[in-house]
Amino acid sequence: MIKISVVVPAYNEEANIAPLCLRLHKTLTDIDEAYEIIFIDDGSKDGTVSEVLKCRAADERVKLISFARNFGHEMANTAGFRKASGEAVVIIDADLQDPPEVIQEMYEKYVEGYDVVYAQRRSRKKESPIKKATSKLFYRVLKSLSDTEIPLDTGDFRLLSRRAVTALNQMDEKNRFFRGLTHWIGFNVTQVYFDRDERHAGETKYSYLKLVRLALDAIVSFSYKPLKLFSLFGFISAIVGFVMMVYWIVKKLAFGNPTDGWTSTVTIFLFFFGLLMMQLSLIGEYIARIYEEVRERPLYIIGREEGFKHE
Ligand code: UDP
Ligand code: MG
Repeated sequence: MIKISVVVPAYNEEANIAPLCLRLHKTLTDIDEAYEIIFIDDGSKDGTVSEVLKCRAADERVKLISFARNFGHEMANTAGFRKASGEAVVIIDADLQDPPEVIQEMYEKYVEGYDVVYAQRRSRKKESPIKKATSKLFYRVLKSLSDTEIPLDTGDFRLLSRRAVTALNQMDEKNRFFRGLTHWIGFNVTQVYFDRDERHAGETKYSYLKLVRLALDAIVSFSYKPLKLFSLFGFISAIVGFVMMVYWIVKKLAFGNPTDGWTSTVTIFLFFFGLLMMQLSLIGEYIARIYEEVRERPLYIIGREEGFKHE
């Protein structure tokens, strides 16, 4: 009976695997329950797989799932949760930004009866001010748009109980925002605080483009409010337009002096066409996601597995 499963998504993290393994083993040994560590190699092009296999050679409790290509962080999380067999499942980044030692505290909360224990950053070291600022902004925007309570300033680092994992595994959607989903399911949620470390080695795998996609996924999959916002815009501008129309017509009929209004016409045109385009592309965002969902492709393809009995 495995008590704790630790899931580690890893994309080109060769230099971080060995030190992470070491610290995980130490922490988990301190907790003193049966455990497994599952690395999800998200189609890495460096030595990540061979590093994981080295860890596995040293300790059978280390397991590997290797994707056929890079499917993205959220899919790696998903695969990890589906393969984990522990009573409690912890998800942790491979780059040692989430200190493994925090798991002990999370596990204590779990024993107290919590289903979701997320780790909230007290501080983040050595990340660019722009990243910190945009991340802050993103969480505030998301909070104001979303109907699900999503805590501010958290990463993926969290612990889930078996029943929370079961609930999560029922979700087949392709555009997922894991941090939101764990709150969407409900149950007893609590948090522990930690200081986020610097990345141990390598570069961040999230380019700004990827972050924007993640943010869009998060907002679009958790809220329809952007659509409603545009309906409101449309409504207000229609009323304003109507009032102006009446004014100009009356003015022309009663006084016969048409206003020469080339500038106003063009600016109004440009403004409202811009608004319309934005609205259309926003609808496109939702439709593209509907399309992805209805295609019913599998979420990811596994190329190699080590340490799992059946399948
Ligand atoms: N990751 C992944 N697939 C990807 C991108 C990232 O599995 O396509 C993993 C990565 O190896 C790391 C975690 O997701 O374990 C978080 O990524 P990263 O540290 O680059 O993000 P940041 O901490 O800079 O937000
Ligand atoms: Mg990181």
